[in-house]
Amino acid sequence: LRRIVIVGGGVAGLRTAEALRRNGFSGELVGINAENRLPYARPSLSKDALFRSDWECVPLETTAGVRWQIGVAASGLDLEQRRVELDDGSTVAFDAAVVATGVRARVLRGTEAGLTLRTADDAEVLHGILHGDRGHLVIVGAGFIGSEVAVTAHSLGWAVTIVDSDPTPLARALGPGPARWLWEQHRVRGVRTRFGQPVQSIQRSGAGYHVTFAHDSVIQADAVVASLGAVPNTEWLRGSGVDITDGVLTDPAGRAITVTGTVVDGVVAVGDVARTPSRTPDGRAVRHEHWAVATTSAQRAAATLTGRQPPVELPPVFWTDVYEHRVQVVGHPSGVESEPEPGPRGFCLRYEGGDGTLTGAVVVNWPQLLPVLSRRVAQAALTA
Ligand code: FAD
Repeated sequence: LRRIVIVGGGVAGLRTAEALRRNGFSGELVGINAENRLPYARPSLSKDALFRSDWECVPLETTAGVRWQIGVAASGLDLEQRRVELDDGSTVAFDAAVVATGVRARVLRGTEAGLTLRTADDAEVLHGILHGDRGHLVIVGAGFIGSEVAVTAHSLGWAVTIVDSDPTPLARALGPGPARWLWEQHRVRGVRTRFGQPVQSIQRSGAGYHVTFAHDSVIQADAVVASLGAVPNTEWLRGSGVDITDGVLTDPAGRAITVTGTVVDGVVAVGDVARTPSRTPDGRAVRHEHWAVATTSAQRAAATLTGRQPPVELPPVFWTDVYEHRVQVVGHPSGVESEPEPGPRGFCLRYEGGDGTLTGAVVVNWPQLLPVLSRRVAQAALTA
């Protein structure tokens, strides 16, 4: 391999470049990034970056030696000619390609007037508003990002209401017990929650906004964030033959799969955009939108491209912060939920599948427990 093209300049693209270098790849690395920035850390955009008055977006440090072309998007992948087509009309030939185009904020019809938070540009806009005159912020969509924006806005002195059509948002991602606990953390600090009621529209009204529910009641807001999930950036792969049903389908080694089920040699997918078979209880191919998964998928893809043994698959791990608490999740918090086990400063819950195997765990303010639980979940998956 002489030239590897990395499409997408997020953490997954960058970590793939670094892993390729560690594996001895000394050829040319060309990176294409639609955003007009070098790779940076997204998780802080809803946390300290949004809170700190002196925040500015700083690129991630690296010695991977990628030649980035920024502010230009890939518009096509030509597998016959082995080249990536760009939206400025040029093409870049490759010996191998890494699809790392991530996801973007989902915008639902009627909610277009709400702000979204995915990029540093989005964060700059929201930062300007949250550090201006305080008022009432309504967050439509109670996912992790919605929850974290609520924490930050509340800490900056905003009155916050968070709304969602789900009666217990995050119960699937976090487990029902930890999800209830998380929303209670908001409520005891005065953040209002309005769950189980679908929002129909977000509309501008004078200097503020109207958030209208499906049954016609309306709440007024000075600012609205719509945090309604994410959509994989795969449009540029249309017509390439790659299966782009909910992200880029890959085999367990990270290699892209075509719509006819064949493996595309020399093309891998990593990070939020990749849908890879995993050790879920039902073995489905799933996408994970988590920081740590970007790194593990990058190591796997780099091993595949350099002909090395891929690292052992570890269960997915992610975290979220809620006020002074750190919540960490390993594996899949579904199935039978244990009673909370108290620790020195926090607690832990374990999840078991129908056959009694450990499928996941949630740890609050107890980081020392995470590596142990991670190993146990991985072992349980291997022997299941
Ligand atoms: P991305 O970071 O989305 O990068 C993809 C890049 O590809 C983008 O720069 C995009 O512009 C570019 N691109 C898209 N289309 C094209 C194209 N056609 N051509 C060229 N370039 C293209 N995870 C956690 O585990 N814990 C957290 O606490 C946490 N907090 C988060 C908070 C926020 C506000 C956000 C947005 C995410 C958070 N995440 C968190 C998720 C984590 O940041 C992501 O999993 C991770 O950034 C994914 O990296 P990626 O490289 O796959 O995709």
